[in-house]
This record gives sequence, structure tokens and C-alpha cells, in this order.
Amino acid sequence: MQIDLHTHSTASDGRLCPSELVARAANAGVEVIALTDHDGTDGLEEARNAAIAAGVHFINGIELSVTWNKRTVHIVGLNFNPEYEPLKAGIRALQDFRETRAREIASKLDQAGIKGAYEGAQRFCGGKMLGRMHFANFLIDAGHAKNVRNVFKHFLVNNKPGHVTGDWATLEDAVSWITGAGGVAVIAHPARYKLTRTKLRKLIKDFIAVGGQAIEVVSGSHDINETKTMANHASDFDLYASAGSDFHDPDFPWIKLGKMPPLPRQCRPVWDLFL
Ligand code: AMP
Ligand code: MN
Ligand code: MN
Ligand code: MN
Repeated sequence: MQIDLHTHSTASDGRLCPSELVARAANAGVEVIALTDHDGTDGLEEARNAAIAAGVHFINGIELSVTWNKRTVHIVGLNFNPEYEPLKAGIRALQDFRETRAREIASKLDQAGIKGAYEGAQRFCGGKMLGRMHFANFLIDAGHAKNVRNVFKHFLVNNKPGHVTGDWATLEDAVSWITGAGGVAVIAHPARYKLTRTKLRKLIKDFIAVGGQAIEVVSGSHDINETKTMANHASDFDLYASAGSDFHDPDFPWIKLGKMPPLPRQCRPVWDLFL
């Protein structure tokens, strides 16, 4: 079965609107999909309706931004009630921070001689969630970089123009908003954080201590070795394993919908909890 539990739409920094995303996934053979937009649930209803129309099983999802030990990590929530009030309040706080941060990013780019970035980024933002990807689109459009990868090498990251430090949710709050809403919390793309083995295991322990249950083992941003490593961590800590492409854009050749390898055999699939 093709299952994709990590995708983005225009409700955050994806290129396709929720219904286009679901239709494209259905065409690619995806049978179960979660929409996991950054810090928001606005796309869920449209995606669910499109999934019903396409005969795809739909799971509510979100990808929450978290600051853990001064680093940004992402926690995916799956199969929760989006009307849960503490989750909604948490999302509002994250969106407020995104707004403040966007102003700061723009003022830092301005200091570096790049004018009009706030308005420029907003032109690429369909929803409420203004993120670095929208600034990336602006920077490319304005001729400062040739592609997204290039932007995240030369701008918006540590020691580069437009970098602003994250001040996101705590790990404890993010996990409790998800579990309080009846959902499952998942550590997103664990290999992306470039943590040492010891630090990653500390993150996993802290995550479990506050009620986290799963980790992405198969991810669009993991290679085969990283997948094996994460499967071993999942076994060691008795975590459920998730699989998600982290699809954003049909023009990003490195992540395709419906093309993920299966979970390693040792894994307990996270979807056993809700399918
Ligand atoms: P934000 O949550 O607004 O800080 O933006 C984070 C998003 O930027 C990620 O979810 C990706 O969509 C994008 N991003 C960050 N780093 C990279 C990268 N190296 N290549 C491509 N996209 C990236
Ligand atoms: Mn993104
Ligand atoms: Mn992420
Ligand atoms: Mn993502």
C-alpha cells in the first residue's frame, strides 16, 4: 500500500492547493494521505473532500515548528481533532511568531540591500502561514538566487542575510496539543537535523517523556542508510514508524509523490494506530 503521511499545500509552503495535491497523489497511486502543513490546519477540509472524491483515505495532519535545545525541529501530528482549543491557540501563537519573524527577515534582507522582501514574499503566500519558502520564491523571482536549494545555502540560514533565530513552540507543548486532540505525535525527518547520535537519542527520550509515539523512518529527505538508522532507533525506543515524502512542489525533482520505499520489516507502522 502507498501511504504518504507528510505533504504540504498552499495552506503552508507547498505549491499545489489541497485538492490539486490530493488529486496528484491519487494519480500517483497513493492510497492513504495526510496533509501536514506547517503550523496550520486550514487546508484539511478541502483536502478531505478531494480525498473522498478520489477514493483516497485521508488523515488529518500538521507539522508543528518546535524549538528544542535552541534548535528547530519539526513534529508531525496525525489523526487529531483540529477543533481542539489548545491546539488552535498554539497554532495562533505560532502564526503570530511567523508574522513577527517575517518582518524581521525582511528588515535583515533590507539591510543587505534587498528591498521589498515582505511584500515580495507575501505575493507567493496563499494562506496565513508566511514562511522561508515564500521568501525563497521572492529571492529567486528577484534574481538573487537560481533555485530553492541555492537560496537555503546563501540566504535565510545561519550567518547569511535574512537569518532570524526560531522561537517556536516547546516540545512539550507541541506534543501535548497533538495528543490532547486525540492524535499521534511523530518526529519529522530526524536525519535532517544533523544531530549526533547522542543528541538525536536525547531528542527521542525527551519526546517520549512528553507523550510522543512515533518517528519518521521513511522520508523524502532520508537516504537508505538514514532509513536503516531511524528504523533501529524506532526499535530501540519502541516507537511506531511513519513514512512521508515531505512533498512541496511538482518542480522539486528530489521528492515525488507515491514513490517511497516500504518501511523496513522490523518497523511497527504508525498507521496501525488509526487505519
Ligand atoms: P520555515 O518553517 O518558514 O522556517 O521554513 C522551513 C521550510 O523551508 C521547510 O519546510 C522547507 O520547505 C524549506 N527549506 C528549508 N531548508 C531547505 C533546503 N535546504 N532546501 C529546500 N527547502 C528548504
Ligand atoms: Mn516546508
Ligand atoms: Mn519539516
Ligand atoms: Mn514538511
